[in-house]
Amino acid sequence: MDLLHLYETMGLSAAVYRRGEEILSELEDRFRGIDRRAEYNQAKVLSAMQQSRIGANHFAATTGYGYDDDGRERLEQVYARVFHTEAALVRPQITCGTHALATALSANLLPGDELLSPVGLPYDTLQEVIGIRPSPCSLAEYGVSYRQADLKPDGSFDYDAVRAAINEKTKLVTIQRSKGYAARPSFSVAQIGELIAFCKSVKPDVICMVDNCYGEFVDIVEPSDAGADMVVGSLIKNPGGGLAPTGGYICGTQECVSRCAYRLSAPGLGQEVGANMGLLPALYQGFFLAPAVTASALKGAIFAANLYEKAGFRCIPDSREPRSDIIQAVELGSEAGMLAFCKGIQAAAPVDSFAAPIPGDMPGYDSQVIMAAGAFVQGSSIELSADGPIRPPYAVYFQGGLTWQHAKFGILMSVQKMAEAGLFPLS
Ligand SMILES: *Cc1c(COP(=O)(O)O)cnc(C)c1O
Repeated sequence: MDLLHLYETMGLSAAVYRRGEEILSELEDRFRGIDRRAEYNQAKVLSAMQQSRIGANHFAATTGYGYDDDGRERLEQVYARVFHTEAALVRPQITCGTHALATALSANLLPGDELLSPVGLPYDTLQEVIGIRPSPCSLAEYGVSYRQADLKPDGSFDYDAVRAAINEKTKLVTIQRSKGYAARPSFSVAQIGELIAFCKSVKPDVICMVDNCYGEFVDIVEPSDAGADMVVGSLIKNPGGGLAPTGGYICGTQECVSRCAYRLSAPGLGQEVGANMGLLPALYQGFFLAPAVTASALKGAIFAANLYEKAGFRCIPDSREPRSDIIQAVELGSEAGMLAFCKGIQAAAPVDSFAAPIPGDMPGYDSQVIMAAGAFVQGSSIELSADGPIRPPYAVYFQGGLTWQHAKFGILMSVQKMAEAGLFPLS
């Protein structure tokens, strides 16, 4: 059976497949650029693992307190080498990206301090961490105030507003690299570097933290190469490479990271405790695969933008823009469009392909959310997935793909389901 016939048995029509091939023929140069960056990042990870002299003995499981866990300590050293930071905290005990960010913030902000976001409203779940939406145990409850400088209408930094917002209380600046669920551009490492330099020119001792979720390995530099004191993310996104079953990381200065470890475990204990529970092989191997997996996801995002934009849908980033993260937003204009898109992604999955995604309430989000994911790791968004809040402009945020081939098939199936619902013009 040839590929097209195999695809037809899986629900993909010849018309959608051919549309995909047309689009792909124009993307060769961009895909080559992605492969070159992936090669650089692969070398970066490999070199770090070699310098840290990782051996099979470092994969051993520890239990209980996890004292003297050499494998855990070396994994953190590998992360620190890749991110070019003094220290790193990489733990399965960090539940998710929000937990990593909440840890970094609450460890480094004390009562009376002020937190500044110079890039507008932070990601939905961070709003409760900060107390923008009141929540028990928020930073606001502990006496940490919050200020925000919005982006200019064109999505650029409003430096005057940032300067005006920095005051004697400003202790920490939080910069979100990826757009999250907002209709603004994601920022490049170079742009983040400029913003950090500006904040430090106004207040030299301010701590600059970057929410790096979805940004790892997209560029050959990370925000820590551009002056960030802390870089924070989730292991079920890019750096886990699809293999990490849970976890988060914080890379940064020794002082900031030590405080994070004291907050995560307990004052006095810090980084010295934390059993790895047998997860080190997955965390090491996932980090090793992460550059290639991120490249697959990037190819999928660019393919989706080109397919959907040519059919008249607004895509953020657009089909030609350089990428700063793996997220692709596609404005589908209706709830029905979001449902059809997600149905296609779900139908293309290796796991739960028979399930139908429906909108539901999610902790941390203030509108209903639809999610499509047939993932090996629950909630993993480095695996092919799509989600979005059910609110105008009815955008789905599409991301991931452990292999480019699967990302491609998933996107084609989303077009298939859109076309079957009369929502995607094929002629
Ligand atoms: C995913 C994400 C987070 C945190 O997410 P979790 O779902 O808690 O892992 C934070 N910020 C941004 C920009 C994200 O994309």
